Amino acid sequence: MAATMRAERFYADTKTVVLEDVPIPEPGPGEVLVKVAFCGICHSDLSLINGTFPAQRPVVTQGHEASGTIAKLGPDVTGWSEGDRVVVAAGRPCEQCANCRRGDLANCLAIRLMAFAYDGAWAEYTLAQAAGLTRVPDNVPLEQAAILADAVSTPYGAVVRTGKVGVGESVGVWGVGGVGTHIVQLARLVGAVPVIAVDINPTVRDRALEVGADHAFDSRDPDLKEKIAAVTGGRKLDVAFDAVGLKVTFEQALDNLTVGGRLVGVGMSAESPTIGPTSMFGLTHRQVLGHLGYQNVDIETLAKLVSLGRLDLSRSISQIIPLEDIAEGIRILEHAEGNPIRVLVQP
Ligand SMILES: [Zn+2]
Ligand SMILES: [Zn+2]
Repeated sequence: MAATMRAERFYADTKTVVLEDVPIPEPGPGEVLVKVAFCGICHSDLSLINGTFPAQRPVVTQGHEASGTIAKLGPDVTGWSEGDRVVVAAGRPCEQCANCRRGDLANCLAIRLMAFAYDGAWAEYTLAQAAGLTRVPDNVPLEQAAILADAVSTPYGAVVRTGKVGVGESVGVWGVGGVGTHIVQLARLVGAVPVIAVDINPTVRDRALEVGADHAFDSRDPDLKEKIAAVTGGRKLDVAFDAVGLKVTFEQALDNLTVGGRLVGVGMSAESPTIGPTSMFGLTHRQVLGHLGYQNVDIETLAKLVSLGRLDLSRSISQIIPLEDIAEGIRILEHAEGNPIRVLVQP
C-alpha cells in the first residue's frame, strides 16, 4: 500500500477546498481503515464551506456519506475482514458523557461529527470505528450504499421516528429535492395514503409522481388548499413534512394539517415562521416537530429494504464526479443544476 493518498481538505481560514497528498492514516484500537468507494456531497458540506456552520478544526477532510471496503483492521477489531463492503457511520460517540456511560451511545451528548470534528471521506481512505459500521448486502451497489448514511436515513428518521407516520395516514411533502424525494418514497413504504408532493418546480413534481407520490401540486397554486382537501376526502393532512425550511413552506404545510396533525420541520434556514394565534393552535391540537438526523441502526434497516427490493434508490444518484473535480460537484449542488437528488464523488 502506498504511504500517501489524495484528499480534498477544507481550510477554515481561506474557506477553500484543496486537493492534497496526505499520509494514509493508521487504524488504532477498535478502528478500521476503509478504502472509500463513493462519498456524497451534502448541503451540510456546503454550509461548512460558506461559513453557515462554524469550523471545528483549522483543516479537515470533508465528506460524511461514505461507502467502501475495509482495507486494514486496527488492533482488537473482531467480526470484520479486509474486503468487507461497508457504510461508515457519520459520527463517533464520545464514550464518556452521561448517556454513553449508561450504554446509550445513540444519544451521546457530545457526538463528534465526521468531516467536522475529524477527517471525512472525500479521500482515497478514511478511518472509522468498527462499532458503527454497517455491512452492505452483496446486491446493493456501493453507490446507493453511500447515500444511506444521511441522504436516505435523515428522511427515514423524519418519517419513522419523528413523524411516526402510520398506515393510512395522509402525508404532504413540501420540497421534493434530495431530502423530499426520499420522504415521499419512505412515506409510501410505511403505508401512508395518499402521499402528496408540493413543489414549485414541475420537473421535480413529475419525478415525485414517478417514485411514488399519488398527487403533486404547485405550492403557488391559489387552489392548493382545496386540492389537498379534495384528495384527502376533506380531511387534509395527518402529517406534513417541510423539507424546504422557509417561512412560506412551513406555514403553508402547517395550514394544511387536519385536526391533531403533525408538522415535521426537516429543511432549515434563518427564517422565522409563525404558528398563528395560540388559541387556534390549541383548538386544532396540532404538533410542530423539529427533525435532524437518524440513528446508526437505521442505515442497516435501509440496506435491507434496498437489498430485498422494497426501496428503489436507482434514481437517487444524479451524478458521479471524480475526487479531483469536487468543485464541480459542489457547484452542481449549490445551484441545483439538473435538480440533483445526490451527487457523489469517487476517489
Ligand atoms: Zn449530510
Ligand atoms: Zn457521549
